[in-house]
Amino acid sequence: MQENERAARRMDRFETRTVHAGFDADGLTGAVVPPIQMSTTFKQDGVGQLREGLDYGRTDNPTRRALEGAIADLENGSHGIAYASGMAATQNALYLLDPGQAVLISDDVYGGTWRLADKVWRRYGIEPIPVDMADLDASSAALTARPNVSMVWVETPTNPLLKVVDISAVVRLAAAAGALTVVDNTFATPYLQRPLELGVDLVLHSATKYLGGHSDVVGGLLATRRDDLAERLRFHQNAAGAVPSPFDCWLVLRGLRTLAVRMERASANAALLAAWLTGRGEVARVHYPGLPDHPQRQVVDRQMRLPGAMVSFEVADAAGGADRARGLAAATRLFTLAESLGAVESLIEVPAGMTHQSVEETPLAVSPALVRLSVGIESADDLVDDLDAAFAASTSVKQAQD
Ligand SMILES: *Cc1c(COP(=O)(O)O)cnc(C)c1O
Repeated sequence: MQENERAARRMDRFETRTVHAGFDADGLTGAVVPPIQMSTTFKQDGVGQLREGLDYGRTDNPTRRALEGAIADLENGSHGIAYASGMAATQNALYLLDPGQAVLISDDVYGGTWRLADKVWRRYGIEPIPVDMADLDASSAALTARPNVSMVWVETPTNPLLKVVDISAVVRLAAAAGALTVVDNTFATPYLQRPLELGVDLVLHSATKYLGGHSDVVGGLLATRRDDLAERLRFHQNAAGAVPSPFDCWLVLRGLRTLAVRMERASANAALLAAWLTGRGEVARVHYPGLPDHPQRQVVDRQMRLPGAMVSFEVADAAGGADRARGLAAATRLFTLAESLGAVESLIEVPAGMTHQSVEETPLAVSPALVRLSVGIESADDLVDDLDAAFAASTSVKQAQD
């Protein structure tokens, strides 16, 4: 069914679009799933006479096109551009800048984003300036102080402290300063929030997380409404070549089909766990955008459809909680001790020793007593039982050591 026909019948609600975005039944065979087109080159009818605009596999590919169309649709943009990883998408967004320019960047961004900014962008003359973007006065002051800021890099909710940034407010500040706004929408997904609708120039995803959703593919995506940015990004996608394989594109597309139901279930589980953790004596603080005392609760209600499926908390004990946090993460049986997030299975980790090791001894360092959960779609009762048993086991381990 054509896009306009579906819209005309009002069968274009988000849940429906996740199931159909990027591909309708194949015109040739009627297949309801996009084919994985592995060909790296395409026959030309005469010199430079391309069929369907296809010539070489790095430049364009039909399976990749389906995925790019899907993310453009779901983010309510007009262009989607696919990469081999979230970091490749991040690097390609940076190609929009020139040496001498600066990027204002959320101060608890994904550790790999900060590593790239600090260790690579700087060498090419682009300065990252970390700021707490939940603090609008601090962001505004940084923009005023540094007229060479050409890009504002927002992550919300942030990782691992689940701070929430008011996207519309940051867009206003950035626009007044003549800077582009980029939102890393990996944690929320377009099911929970759509930054392009709030005036953001570019949305980024690690498709490795919720969009893929099954811990079986690494990928990255950008989406935009701006033709000028899309043209420059496409040029670099081809020129620098960090493109995903057709099979990887197909896996992300397959994951997308269930995005809405996965996000509903995982968010409901996370809300339940966050409330349960809040009542525990071993827990000093719970970070979850859905809790009533979350510092940006009003922004959450305005900006997000649901508070998401990431939860973090600080473990408390007389020794500071760091050993207990490690003990807890090692003692769960259902929660798997692993990096990454956003899939059907629940994961647990200690950011200071795992995902955020690269920001150790920097202003972005996190407490060693912090535990992060990526809540999956299992039975919430089983997840609670698992954490309950792990808390008990980590106490006895500690006592045995003492
Ligand atoms: C994982 C992640 C990235 C990097 O994506 P990769 O696919 O691992 O390269 C970027 N931003 C956020 C928020 C992430 O969670």
